[in-house]
Amino acid sequence: MKQSLRVLYLAAEADPFIKVGGLGDVAGSLPAALRSITTLHPSTTPDEKAPIDEIEVDVRLVIPFHGVIQNQPFPIKRIATFQVNHVNGPVQAEAFLADVNGLPVYMIAGALIPINASVYTTEPSIDGLKFTFFSLAALELARTLNWTPHIVHANDWHTAPAIYHLFLNRQKTGFYYNTSTVLGLHNLPYLGVGAGPTLSAFGLPPATSSGLPEWAQHLPLPLGLYSADHIVAASPNYAREILTPEFGSGLHDFLRTRLTKISGILNGLDTQRWDPLTDTAIQAQYGLADLETRQTNKLGLQREFGLKEDPNLPLFAMVTRMDNQKGVDLAPDAFRQIAGKPWQAIILGSGDPLLEGAARQLEAEYSDRARAVIRFDPGLSRRVYAGADALLIPSRYEPCGLTQMIAMRYGCVPIARATGGLRDTIQDFDQSTESTGFLFKKPTSGDLAKTMLRALQVFADPGQWQKMQRRGMQQDFSWQRFARQYLTLYLSLANNQGS
Ligand code: ADP
Repeated sequence: MKQSLRVLYLAAEADPFIKVGGLGDVAGSLPAALRSITTLHPSTTPDEKAPIDEIEVDVRLVIPFHGVIQNQPFPIKRIATFQVNHVNGPVQAEAFLADVNGLPVYMIAGALIPINASVYTTEPSIDGLKFTFFSLAALELARTLNWTPHIVHANDWHTAPAIYHLFLNRQKTGFYYNTSTVLGLHNLPYLGVGAGPTLSAFGLPPATSSGLPEWAQHLPLPLGLYSADHIVAASPNYAREILTPEFGSGLHDFLRTRLTKISGILNGLDTQRWDPLTDTAIQAQYGLADLETRQTNKLGLQREFGLKEDPNLPLFAMVTRMDNQKGVDLAPDAFRQIAGKPWQAIILGSGDPLLEGAARQLEAEYSDRARAVIRFDPGLSRRVYAGADALLIPSRYEPCGLTQMIAMRYGCVPIARATGGLRDTIQDFDQSTESTGFLFKKPTSGDLAKTMLRALQVFADPGQWQKMQRRGMQQDFSWQRFARQYLTLYLSLANNQGS
């Protein structure tokens, strides 16, 4: 007998429609990976207590119909109009549907999701309005379609209001009575500050007896953390870190009270989209069998940026949002500290003007060997992964991180701070047979510089370096692996709810 597990998956962004950061990668990949699982053998079904042979996951993705999506040529059809309750009267919503290789993707439009606004603005009250409306509209859509999910999986503060709404209301309504909720946590410090008044206006009052600190009782993410049936951090290590003062954003004590409801599942990588064997954005495709071909890409990258074309010169790179989180400020100083050694640098990123300036300054000081490329350029990022020797990821915190996984898949060795998912996915060089990169503990330029020196020593021994590259390329970061962990979680929640 085949049973269907219905999952409504909510996100502010999802590749290929709209990607701003890692959440776009995750929401663009996990639902499809879940759909492709058809042969898990759970002992009971979500709907009844009987053994089954097979389960299929009917996951449906819902994203806001952001303005940028409207300019893209995806076949999209309008499927429903309905209303969302607001203190000033009902707000009109429209739903559109696209089919992405069998995955239904719904897009919600309405006056509160302005066509001319960017995905995230710097004005919290605008985003609060947009995403609270979106969260509630997504729930209303499922009701309009008469499609009851077993699981509502929301992500980050943007869609946490859906979880809080169900917490407050599911006992009152038949439709969501047996629905369980999962909150994906990709970035704890973004709490949704400024969205509080909006929540109240949409019927979501502060949770005064929640155990949350008073300052957090009206904020979307804390309310989601309080009310979700389960919280999934973006890596097992991040799930532990958020319980500490350093990473807990003031919520660590509260999160400890929810310990049994928190777990960590790594984000996977779309291994088809990221594959040096088939990547047409790079000059020469390569794999484990012809790793030496990779050198063509390194020489091409050096040529592209007017750097000395020499395979023996170690080329360090960064591909990053220019944000304090990413420790971008540590890199220029680290390069200065090892100025006496041979190195080349390409820093690709955009964001905080101060950090962009720091990267430009490095280029000005070392114009013969450093380049700052201040833009978001997916094609170039691929050439960097395929051509650079090592990728610097000195993050202050990193819930999961994708760049280290992409780098390893492309034979580019990560040099990263031992935090969050970086620690879960990179094995530090320790002469053992398992190492795939270099890790350091403290987010300081001194520790980064020391670790770059360690990397230079290994780079000087091509045999040893190649072994690390190969081990990195052989890691299994595929979504198939992690999607199964999600399915196991969904099934345990669905079964508990039904009992
Ligand atoms: P975050 O989501 O915190 O920004 P991740 O490591 O999870 O960090 O994901 C970053 C994604 O964005 C990766 O796919 C990376 O290649 C891409 N990226 C970051 N900066 C740039 C850039 N300047 N140009 C192209 N791609 C970038």
